[in-house]
Amino acid sequence: MASPASGSTPFERLKSRFDRDMVCPECGYDDEEGEWLSTTDGSRVVYQHICPSCGKVRQHNYTLGT
Ligand SMILES: [Zn+2]
Repeated sequence: MASPASGSTPFERLKSRFDRDMVCPECGYDDEEGEWLSTTDGSRVVYQHICPSCGKVRQHNYTLGT
C-alpha cells in the first residue's frame, strides 16, 4: 500500500476482488470465464454478475465520492 500502482483506484480494487469471487452462491457454479460487469451513471457504480448456470444475479452498488 506504500506505493500503489497508477490507476489503482478503490473501484478497480473492488472489481479485482469481485473477479476472484466467481462461484455462484446459489448453485456453486464456478464461472471462471466470466467477470463482474461494472456500470456507472456518474454518481454510483454497479457491479453485476449473472450466473450462466442458474441465472442468479449478484449485484453490488457503490456510491462515488463519499
Ligand atoms: Zn448459479
